[in-house]
Amino acid sequence: MDVKGRVEIDRELCKGCGLCVEACVPKVLHLSARLNASGYTPAEYTGTSCSGCGLCFYACPEPGTLRVWKLMATVAA
Ligand code: SF4
Ligand code: SF4
Repeated sequence: MDVKGRVEIDRELCKGCGLCVEACVPKVLHLSARLNASGYTPAEYTGTSCSGCGLCFYACPEPGTLRVWKLMATVAA
């Protein structure tokens, strides 16, 4: 079974605290150089190598900002 993840971050709800960036073991999150409408630098996903571990979700203090998807695919033998 091939397990991968995907993370979605609402850039307008994000406060740019960086806790998710610190929590991510494969380091696939970073803070944007572009400010959101509230003047924060929101977290962004690079788009590859997320494992779906969920550590960023549990680290985020802003409810509803960050969603993690765990994708499972059965690989034929
Ligand atoms: S789910 Fe895990 S691997 Fe994926 S972005 Fe969050 S902390 Fe990183
Ligand atoms: S932990 Fe949440 S609020 Fe903080 S940077 Fe990450 S997504 Fe934004």
